[in-house]
Amino acid sequence: MEIILAKSAGFCFGVKRATQMAFDASQQFASIHSLGPLIHSPQVVEKLEQHGVRVCHQVAEIPAGAVIIRSHGVTAGDLREIDEQKLDVIDATCPFVKKAQDYAAQLSADGYLLVLVGESDHPEVEGILSYAGGEVRVVASPVEAMDLPRGRKIGVVAQTTQSLENLQEIVAVCLSKTKELRVFNTICDATTVRQNEARKIAAEVDLMIVIGGFNSANTSRLATLCQEQQARTHHIETADQLLPEWFHDVHRVGVTAGASTPSWIIEEVLAKLESLPE
Ligand code: SF4
Repeated sequence: MEIILAKSAGFCFGVKRATQMAFDASQQFASIHSLGPLIHSPQVVEKLEQHGVRVCHQVAEIPAGAVIIRSHGVTAGDLREIDEQKLDVIDATCPFVKKAQDYAAQLSADGYLLVLVGESDHPEVEGILSYAGGEVRVVASPVEAMDLPRGRKIGVVAQTTQSLENLQEIVAVCLSKTKELRVFNTICDATTVRQNEARKIAAEVDLMIVIGGFNSANTSRLATLCQEQQARTHHIETADQLLPEWFHDVHRVGVTAGASTPSWIIEEVLAKLESLPE
């Protein structure tokens, strides 16, 4: 059986950086907490816990020591609380997310109605919003953008994982509402590259495996996109979830993984695939 592994499978730049920073910090600090699970991989979170990095959900829960900020950032309020509690900070906010936060602050300060293209309940969006001082609207679709007021100058930024098509369509609606529009394309290519490659591979194989946390939105999205190309798509978290009966009549299998899937899990899956009987 031929195995085709996506080049873009696994950790993106921001997640790799955050994970490395967390493991490094675990060597330096006696007490360290991450504000929310560091990444959407239960296996990595468990490994970090074994290294002393505990998960908490509120700054107030952290008695002392160090706190690590996840790649999708925190709100300005959380940052203030961290400062007041005099905790050591390991800021693993992805530089691309930081850029979106900075643009949001700048557009607000310049008097624009800030339109943030994204999902309102996502922590990255909550973080970006908190840096905007003025009026903001979170818009998930062109239909929602139709409700924006007319005649205001509009500034647009996007959640880093949005699709370019959605941003373009929302920008087109904004343009019909205002004479002054400023757009910062803050979409991170990592997601698009991974999705395009996965789609292409899924169309060329007999079966597709997508590896990543069941709680990872980007992995679930990858699985959905692959499913559209190849009905025999399976989303798994670990190698032991692979079932030999899936592979009857399979000559080519494609493999990809979400941005929060560590390389060791991908390698375990590849090893299991290679060991399947012909
Ligand atoms: S997907 Fe992009 S923006 Fe998000 S953490 Fe990864 S590199 Fe950073």
